[in-house]
Amino acid sequence: MMHQAYIGLGANLGDRFQQCQQAIDLLRTHAVVTAVAPCYETDPIPGTEGGAFLNGVLKIATDKAPEPLLLLLQEVEIQLGRERAMRRKRAIRWGARTMDLDLLFFDEKVIRTRNLVVPHPELEKRRFVLQPLADLAPDLLHPTLQKTVKQLLVECSDPGQVVYFGKFT
Ligand code: ATP
Ligand code: CA
Ligand code: CA
Repeated sequence: MMHQAYIGLGANLGDRFQQCQQAIDLLRTHAVVTAVAPCYETDPIPGTEGGAFLNGVLKIATDKAPEPLLLLLQEVEIQLGRERAMRRKRAIRWGARTMDLDLLFFDEKVIRTRNLVVPHPELEKRRFVLQPLADLAPDLLHPTLQKTVKQLLVECSDPGQVVYFGKFT
């Protein structure tokens, strides 16, 4: 059975645009990418190391279950040079990274396991997620908040700047 999922991508180290584009291309070899939001340049989350992020959102169709999809996202992060070693420094939760792929939505499913929380628990607080998500799916309903993505964006108080950067191919 095919599922619809939304993936958030972000990078703030290295050749950010190139890495995001490569992540999209790699995911295309394992899933059907059905829509790609514009790329935005965004302020780093306060308390993070490193500079501005590039962020985007993809819509995919996949026959994978959520956990195998998360494993695929983590493999792509590693292929793009993501350092997992920084996890040893537990205090730094949001380190600088060459690629971060988060599972934002998986159908209308609500998942809370040790490894996976869906919808992504921070998405309503993050303009850098909501803006590209709203470009693709303004009417998508958040299954627990019972609000659309558009509503969440309008109500979002995140002061972080989200500036159009370019288009992925
Ligand atoms: P945040 O999740 O707040 O954006 P982060 O992306 O920096 O933080 P990571 O270090 O990339 O966090 O991931 C930490 C763990 O989060 C992963 O090992 C994964 O098991 C878990 N996780 C839980 N829910 C999700 C999700 N929806 N998408 C991706 N990872 C998730
Ligand atoms: Ca993240
Ligand atoms: Ca992540």
